[in-house]
Amino acid sequence: MKVAVFSAKSYDRQFLDAANVAQHQPHSFSYYDVLLTPQTASLAQGNEAVCVFVNDDVGAATLQQLAALGVRLVTLRCNGFNNVDLRAAADLGITVTRVSNYSPYSVAEHTVGLILMLNRKLHRAYNRVRDDNFALDGLMGFDLHGCTVGIIGTGKIGRIVGQIMAGFGCRLYCYDPYPNEALAAIATYTSLDTLLSEADIITLHCPLTDTNQHLINHDTIAQMKRGVMLINTSRGKLVDTKAVIEGIKSGQIGYVGIDVYEEEDSLFFQDLSDTIIQDDTFQLLQSFPNVVITAHQAFFTRNALEDIAATTLENLSHFEQRLPLIHEVTYNPDL
Ligand code: NAD
Repeated sequence: MKVAVFSAKSYDRQFLDAANVAQHQPHSFSYYDVLLTPQTASLAQGNEAVCVFVNDDVGAATLQQLAALGVRLVTLRCNGFNNVDLRAAADLGITVTRVSNYSPYSVAEHTVGLILMLNRKLHRAYNRVRDDNFALDGLMGFDLHGCTVGIIGTGKIGRIVGQIMAGFGCRLYCYDPYPNEALAAIATYTSLDTLLSEADIITLHCPLTDTNQHLINHDTIAQMKRGVMLINTSRGKLVDTKAVIEGIKSGQIGYVGIDVYEEEDSLFFQDLSDTIIQDDTFQLLQSFPNVVITAHQAFFTRNALEDIAATTLENLSHFEQRLPLIHEVTYNPDL
C-alpha cells in the first residue's frame, strides 16, 4: 500500500523501514515531518492510507479532505485515539486502526522514574553536583515504602505501575470501572473520591474520553491530601493545568510529574530551544522546583518502537489483504 506517514521523525523512519524490509510485500512509505491537519492533508494525495501519531489532527475537517483524496485507512502509531473523530471516519467509510498493545513497560517504567525523580529530587541533585555543590539541604525525600499510591485506570499500563509500586511496599488504591483481577489481589479498588482523599501519590492511566476531560480540576484537587504527588503520563487534557498551578502555589500539590500536557501539540516532538515559547502556562509550570516535565517520551523505548512498527505493518497488510483487523477502532455511540 502507499502510505503517507505524518509527524514522521528519524526514529519512525528507522523502525518502520526496518520492519518493512522484512515484509513479503513491502509497503511504500512517504514520510512527512509535519502534523496532519486540514492544512497539510493534501500531502496524502496518491496514498490509500495515512499513518499518524498522538498530536495529528484527525478531526472531521481533515477526514473529509482525506476521503476526497481517496484515503481509506487511518492507522495510528499509538494506543490512544482521542485525536480521531471516529463518527466522521465511519460516515466517510474510512477505517481506523491503532497499536493497541505495545510494550506497556515503557510507559509504566517511565511513570515510576518520574515518581522517584520527584521524591528524591534527582533533577535538582544532578544539577547541584555538576556545579560542585555537594550540600544536601533541600534534597530530603520520603520513603515510598508505606505510601498509598492511587492509580486511576488499571489497564495494561496502570496494572504494571501498581505491580512495581507494590514492590516498593506501597499500598495501592485503584479506580477503574473495569477492575483488573490480577491487580485486585494486591490492591484495593475504591471510589474515585476515596482514592483522591487517601493517596499520597496519584497517577493517571485512563484514556482521554469525551467525559473525563479535566478529571483533575479545582474540585478534585481540593479533595486530595495536602502535599500530594500528581503524575500524568496518560493524556494532557485529563488535567486542568491552571488548577494544578494554583494547587502548587497554595501547597496543596507538593509534586507534579507530567509526560503529557494539554497544549502539547504546539510544543512537543520538536526542538524549540532557539524559540521564545508563547505558552505562559507551560512556562510558569516548568519554573517550579517541584515539577518535572518530559515531552511525551514515556513510550520511547527500543522495545516499544519495534512493537509499534510491527503492529502498524500488520494493520496495513491486513487491511490491504482484507484480513480481519485485530486493532481496528470503531465508532461506538454509547461511549
Ligand atoms: P488500556 O486500555 O489497557 O487501559 C485503560 C484503562 O482505563 C481501562 O482499564 C479502562 O477501563 C480504564 N478507564 C477508562 N476510563 C476511565 C476513567 N474515566 N476512570 C478510570 N479508569 C478508566 O490502556 P493502557 O495501554 O493502559 O494506556 C492508558 C493510557 O496511557 C492510554 O489511553 C494513553 O492515553 C496513555 N499512553 C501514554 C503514552 C505516553 O507515551 N505517555 C503511551 C501509551 C499510552
